[in-house]
Amino acid sequence: MDRRYGRIASAGPEVSRAPVSVKIEKRCHRAPGSVVRMSIPGVEPTVPPSGTGCVECDATGGWWVHLRRCTQCGHIGCCDNSPEQHGRKHAADTGHTVITSFEPGEDWFYDFSNDNFYESGPALAPPDSRPADQPVPGPQGRVPEDWRSKLNG
Ligand SMILES: [Zn+2]
Ligand SMILES: [Zn+2]
Repeated sequence: MDRRYGRIASAGPEVSRAPVSVKIEKRCHRAPGSVVRMSIPGVEPTVPPSGTGCVECDATGGWWVHLRRCTQCGHIGCCDNSPEQHGRKHAADTGHTVITSFEPGEDWFYDFSNDNFYESGPALAPPDSRPADQPVPGPQGRVPEDWRSKLNG
C-alpha cells in the first residue's frame, strides 16, 4: 500500500490509472451488455451431460418441467418451475453458476451469480439436449395428474 501511494503521489494520475483499468476490465465480464459470447466464465465445453434426466429427481423418483445443464460439470438438473429446482440448488451447492438449457432447440446460457443471460454460448460436448421424445413435464410415468398445481412460481 505504501508503495502505491508513493507512486501515485510522485507520478501523478497518469500512472495511477493503470491499476484502476485492470479492475474495470475484470468487472466487464460480469456487466450486462458487455459480454462476449465465447468467453462465458466457468464453462467447460468438453464435459458431457450427466444423463437425460435431472440427477436428483431420477434418484428420488421426482419429476420436472424443463432440464438445465451445468456447464462446468455436466450435471443435469430441473428448472425453476419444477417442484425442486435442482438446477438452481446445484449451482448454490457447488458454485457452478452457469447453466444452459437442455431442452431441444434452446441455446441460451444463464449465470445465477450475476443474472447474466446469454442468447447462445460455446458448443458443448454432445448431446446438447434431452431426447426430443421425452415428454414435458417428464419423465414418462412419474408426473402426477395435478402437476400444474405443484409448479414452482
Ligand atoms: Zn430435479
Ligand atoms: Zn456442476
